[in-house]
Amino acid sequence: MVLCNLHTHTERSDGIGSAEDVIRIALEKGFRTLGFSDHVYTPWGTDYTLPEDPDGYIRENLQFAEKYKDRIEIVCGIENEFDCWQADKRYQYNIGSRHCLPVSDGHMLIDETPEILEAGIAAYYDGRGALAAKDYYMHLAEDADRFRPQIIGHFDLIRKFNRSSRFFDENSASYRRAALEAAEAAGSTGAVFEVNSSNIARKRRHILYPADFILRFILERGYPVILGSDAHDPSLLDGGFREAETRLWGLGFRYITVWENGRFVQKELAEQMTVNA
Ligand SMILES: [Zn+2]
Ligand SMILES: [Zn+2]
Repeated sequence: MVLCNLHTHTERSDGIGSAEDVIRIALEKGFRTLGFSDHVYTPWGTDYTLPEDPDGYIRENLQFAEKYKDRIEIVCGIENEFDCWQADKRYQYNIGSRHCLPVSDGHMLIDETPEILEAGIAAYYDGRGALAAKDYYMHLAEDADRFRPQIIGHFDLIRKFNRSSRFFDENSASYRRAALEAAEAAGSTGAVFEVNSSNIARKRRHILYPADFILRFILERGYPVILGSDAHDPSLLDGGFREAETRLWGLGFRYITVWENGRFVQKELAEQMTVNA
């Protein structure tokens, strides 16, 4: 397995540990590439984001890239928020993510707690979770085309609290249609789909983002995928990667995207690593 993670948080946003703590653990784990993607500033919730001016964050990442260049490739990225997009050419890549829905009087968070999601659905979608899910994918389809992120982060994050179909039916035809339309819109921009293993790493739910039916569609269309642990704790930098690779292999994927020498490249998924997992 080529160890590469471009979805990493530090204490600069809502993760644990300094950037250098994370680099130390990445080296111990044998990572070849480590990209930092702290949360972009969002005015409606600043306690889990970078400051509005990302200058210090960017400069620090570039300093570490230089300092560690003989041992690991450090990449300066960002987890950008579609409703608060920060275009800065110094970011070597953007993870485009949606953690909220724009509503009449601001933004409704979808991934904070089940209670907050429930209250948002009650207040803005007449209590109908299926409408919120549909709206989420409608926005995502537009977002990808408008902002052209290199990576689409946790594509179906709207499922986060949907255990036992609490808010909507993931098997319904209308849900699946909305998700696949957004996948097609995002895939046609050339974006790489993140296969986000954070739930498995944190032992929350044994699910990946995206769900299998979306991954099958991505495979059929030939859109690229990249593993992302979305680590908020450096001990989980490679959390769930083995399971994710095994799942991808089982679905028929044979290539995975990694970052190497300043760009995205395709690598073969190593069969022997996955079937023995
Ligand atoms: Zn995220
Ligand atoms: Zn993240």
